[in-house]
Amino acid sequence: MAGHFTIKTSYVSRMTGSTDTADIASLIDLLRASRRTVIFTGAGISTESGIPDFRSPGGIWTQMAPIDFRDFISSAELRKEAWRRRFAMEEMFSTVQPNEGHHAVASLVKLGKASHVITQNIDNLHQQSGVPADRVIEIHGNTRYAKCLNCGARAELEPIRAHFEAHGEPPDCRFCGGIMKTATISFGQAMPESEMARAEAATLACDLFIVLGSSLVVYPAAGFPILARKNGARLAIVNREPTDQDIYADLVLNRQIGPTLREAVNAL
Ligand code: NAD
Repeated sequence: MAGHFTIKTSYVSRMTGSTDTADIASLIDLLRASRRTVIFTGAGISTESGIPDFRSPGGIWTQMAPIDFRDFISSAELRKEAWRRRFAMEEMFSTVQPNEGHHAVASLVKLGKASHVITQNIDNLHQQSGVPADRVIEIHGNTRYAKCLNCGARAELEPIRAHFEAHGEPPDCRFCGGIMKTATISFGQAMPESEMARAEAATLACDLFIVLGSSLVVYPAAGFPILARKNGARLAIVNREPTDQDIYADLVLNRQIGPTLREAVNAL
């Protein structure tokens, strides 16, 4: 698609919450020109709520390696470890609140500007900020509940925790005896087919695709911005650090998501 303008700014030193009007004006221009925007979020949108991301200094990966899906299936010990880690984070996940970035995204959906939020996050904060559940596409699942890996039955975490504390191991599925896991997608696990299909359809139908807080290194999720761009949509990336996909973007803002997006949405 001809006529894209390219503005790349790198104002990492100004990551204080203050914003620069010139580059935010470009984001506002893109939003105003858009009839159908898709928002794509990563762990970076939730750091302002107090949930660490994976790859920033102090991020989750600097503290513990992720447990691969095959290891989870084959090792009862690693399943216990996965659940131990999950319950250790329960206080954070059950009390955390959406921040102004989530609320700005919710406003874009409410205004009819954004059709969908495709999220890699598992924290449920887009729904908590008021985005209708059918507009949120969770391609890496949700950590606020569990699922049986065999029959797919949903289970709440509290009874699993009570069993874990009483017996030192998680319960099997009460319907089929299968293995229970948080309803998240681990490394090595198949992507959820219907969510991927919905994410692809939303991406192909948009004219503006905005990435918020993703290092864009986790595939296939990171394929969506490229798909949007190849399909003729404009691409904007708001992320604290540069990403490998900045070269494809019409606009790159190395800025803090919350204040940046709030200012842009307030101007619409
Ligand atoms: P990532 O950790 O690889 O990248 C996050 C990016 O966001 C980084 O480049 C960082 O510079 C940027 N960032 C952090 N805070 C920011 C802020 N306030 N403003 C602007 N930029 C900010 O995350 P990813 O790309 O989402 O991939 C990691 C995987 O881990 C994903 O699959 C995700 O599901 C999962 N994850 C989810 C959560 C969550 O649900 N909140 C938390 C950690 C990891």
